[in-house]
Amino acid sequence: MRLSRYFLPVLKETPADATIASHQYMLRAGMMKQNSAGIYSWLPLGYKVLKNIEAIVRDEQNKAGANEMLMPTIQSADLWKETGRYDDYGPEMLRITDRHEREMLYGPTNEDMITDIFRSFVRSYKDLPQLLYHIQWKFRDERRPRFGVMRGREFLMKDAYSFDLTKEDAVKSYNRMFVAYLNTFARLGLKAVPMRADTGPIGGDLSHEFLILADTGESEVFCHSDLVDMAAPGDVDYDSDLQSFVDARTSLYAATDEMHEPDEFAKVPGDKQLSARGIEVGHIFYFGDKYSGPMGAKVMGSDGKESNVMMGSYGIGVSRLVGGIIEASHDENGIIWPKSVTPFGAGIINLKAGDDGTDAACEDLYGKLSKAGIDPLYDDKADRGGVKFGRMDLIGLPYQLVIGPRGVKDGIVEVKDRKTGEKQNLSYDETLNYIT
Ligand code: ATP
Ligand code: MG
Ligand code: MG
Ligand code: MG
Repeated sequence: MRLSRYFLPVLKETPADATIASHQYMLRAGMMKQNSAGIYSWLPLGYKVLKNIEAIVRDEQNKAGANEMLMPTIQSADLWKETGRYDDYGPEMLRITDRHEREMLYGPTNEDMITDIFRSFVRSYKDLPQLLYHIQWKFRDERRPRFGVMRGREFLMKDAYSFDLTKEDAVKSYNRMFVAYLNTFARLGLKAVPMRADTGPIGGDLSHEFLILADTGESEVFCHSDLVDMAAPGDVDYDSDLQSFVDARTSLYAATDEMHEPDEFAKVPGDKQLSARGIEVGHIFYFGDKYSGPMGAKVMGSDGKESNVMMGSYGIGVSRLVGGIIEASHDENGIIWPKSVTPFGAGIINLKAGDDGTDAACEDLYGKLSKAGIDPLYDDKADRGGVKFGRMDLIGLPYQLVIGPRGVKDGIVEVKDRKTGEKQNLSYDETLNYIT
C-alpha cells in the first residue's frame, strides 16, 4: 500500500479524553473513530489489525475442533424469557421494539440462542460432543464505557459453546478451550494467565478468566509469578487427554479479586507472590444445565434415558485485544506490533520523494517486498523526514526501511527494528532476507 493512497488520519495531539496508552495511540494512529459513547468505526489501519487478531482466534478454535457458524446480532426476547435472563440481565441489555411491538434485543451473549438451536436438531448422545462458535458483534450498555475499545458498548467477541452428555465429557470440552486459549494468546504475543473467576450473570460452577497483566487493567489479580512466563502447550493433539496442561496451571494460585482467598495466597512463596492489575481478554465457563434445563434441551443416552445436555461457554474479547496488545507492547513513541498481528509487515520511508533515483529505489524495494508477501506500507508522501519517522514509529510496524539519495548511490537501505531501535545498513537482498 502506498501511503499517498491510504486513509491514515494521524493526529498530532493526544485527545484529552484518552487516558491510557492504547486508547491514545489508537486515536492518534488513525485506527478508529468514536461515533458515540463506546461505539467506534474501525478505520483501515485498525480494521486490518482487528482482522488479523480474528484470524488467529479462528485458526486456534478450528484446531481445537470447534465449528464456526454465525448467529444474528438481533435476538427475540422470547428465548431470554424462557431462561429467565430477560429480567436478570438488567440495564446492560439494549432492548428494542420492532414495528409489530415485538420485544427484541441486541445480543450481549448467545447462550440462550445457541441452546435453542441445539434443541431444535440434536436428540441423541450419538451426535455429541458438539462445539460451536461464532465471531460476532455484541452490545452491552456498559455503565461506564471507557478506555476506547477496551470497554466499548458495541464490541467484537468470539463465543463458543460446548454440548456434552455428562459433566465428565463437558470438562474435556472445557479443557480443549482452556488449551486453545493458551495457544491463541501466545500467538498474539501476550502472556495471558488463567485465573479462577466468578461466573457472573452467565452462571455455573467452573470458570477461568484469562488476564494479561497491565497497570491499566480494571481487575485486581493475585497469582503465582511462575504462571506469567509458562510456555503455551503449542501443537497438541486435541483429542488426547489435556488435563495435565490444565493442572500444571490450576495447581498454582491465581485468582481475580472476587475469588481471592488471602489465606491460600499466603502459602505461595513470598518471592513468587504477584499482586497486580489485569485486563480480562477471555473467559470460559462450565455451567452444566443452567440453560438446557429451563429450555428443555435434552439428549437420549445410550441407556435410552433422557437428560439435560451439559454445556459450557467460552468468550474472547477480539476487539478488546487490539487495545490489550497495545497496552502490552508500546513505548513513548507509539505502538510496537507483534509480527503476528501487524497491519503491514514493514514500512518503507522515501526520504526524498520526487527525486528520480530515490523514487526508483523505493519502487523497486516495494515491488520485491510485495512479491515476497511482506505487505509493505510505502511512505511516498512529500513530508519531511522527521514527520515520516514519527508517523512510522507511532503506527508501530516491526521494520522501517529508510531509503534516501545517499543510500541509493551505494545500494543501501537503513533498516530499523521498531522494537529495539537498532539500525543497520543492508543491501536490498540482505534487507529482503532479514525481514522475511
Ligand atoms: P468485564 O469484566 O470486562 O466487564 P465480562 O466478564 O462482563 O467482562 P464476559 O461476559 O466474560 O465479559 O465476555 C467475554 C469477553 O468479552 C471478556 O473476557 C472480554 O474480553 C470481552 N468483553 C466483555 N465486555 C466487553 C466490553 N464492554 N468491551 C470489549 N470487550 C468486552
Ligand atoms: Mg462486563
Ligand atoms: Mg469480567
Ligand atoms: Mg467475564
